[in-house]
Amino acid sequence: MKFLRSIAFIGAMMTATVAALAQEPALPDFAPVSAEVKSRAWPIDPAKGYVVRELKPTIYMVTDGRYQSLFVVTNRGVVLFDAPPSLLRNIEPAVAEVTKQPIVSLVYSHGHIDHIGGAGVILKRHPNLEIIAEEGVAHFLKEQKDPNRPVPNKTFKEATTLDLAPTTVQLKIGHWHSAAGDLLAYFPAEKILMAIDTISPAQTMFMGFNLTQNTEEYIKVFGQLLSLDFETLVTGHRSNPATREDVVQMQQFVNDVYETAKRVSAADTKVVIGRAVAKYKDNGYAVARAVTDSQVAQCEKEINSRWLEKISNMDVYAASQCMAALVYFQFDVGPRSGD
Ligand SMILES: [Zn+2]
Repeated sequence: MKFLRSIAFIGAMMTATVAALAQEPALPDFAPVSAEVKSRAWPIDPAKGYVVRELKPTIYMVTDGRYQSLFVVTNRGVVLFDAPPSLLRNIEPAVAEVTKQPIVSLVYSHGHIDHIGGAGVILKRHPNLEIIAEEGVAHFLKEQKDPNRPVPNKTFKEATTLDLAPTTVQLKIGHWHSAAGDLLAYFPAEKILMAIDTISPAQTMFMGFNLTQNTEEYIKVFGQLLSLDFETLVTGHRSNPATREDVVQMQQFVNDVYETAKRVSAADTKVVIGRAVAKYKDNGYAVARAVTDSQVAQCEKEINSRWLEKISNMDVYAASQCMAALVYFQFDVGPRSGD
């Protein structure tokens, strides 16, 4: 009896689930991941779950296909850049693959959990760990009181150079992504640059210009990167680093989104406002929303028509990038006479 009752219960649950699914709106269609992105991805042995490669002598990148860390084998031990939680179980095996040296320092790129949330565990395993970050990031982490993101014990203000003999790295604060500050790490001798959460090579950046909290600086970061003589850019995401050409392409894309948002903002809104007022009456937010929705839709359509063939999956976040550019143009820049 009990058994029959459970069967009946499961049957009822399944019917309810099917009914619930039927009420869900249909999922939108998107273009598949491009052949270019797939062919450039570093292959990952599924049994291992990660791949580590030497970018230049002493400088290595490890990735699980989603996140990236960099590490440098110096004369005094291994200096690690970032400790994403998703990579945590892979970082030490990856280091052990290339050196017997212990991890002695950890440099934070910025304060976000997804890039440094594995630091607490690394510190537990290496109690003498030196943790380096810019002052703004250190201040932010002090406020967070998160054991997974221990407060740095060595800070610098704005810029510094670390002696990673036999090489050196120049560290400089940036503001393209997180409010507490980002890190530009430049290895001039090796022409390697690390700038986390700038772009994903040949693929769309994440929503809202990669979740930037400073659109003005995000738009400017491409010029800042290209002013440096680099060949390899580690951006923290995906399984392969980016090139100069990737940065040039994304700069063109972001500039096009901005110019489109600017043009769309200048278009006449009388018709859409008229329709919205007729429907929403004195609900001013609803009217404003109707105007924004129509501007985003126009921008999204244009951007998709120009970039979908060139940048993998850009249709997924085209509307979101347009929204970021529209907000930036309309509130930060503002229409000027003569525009
Ligand atoms: Zn981030």
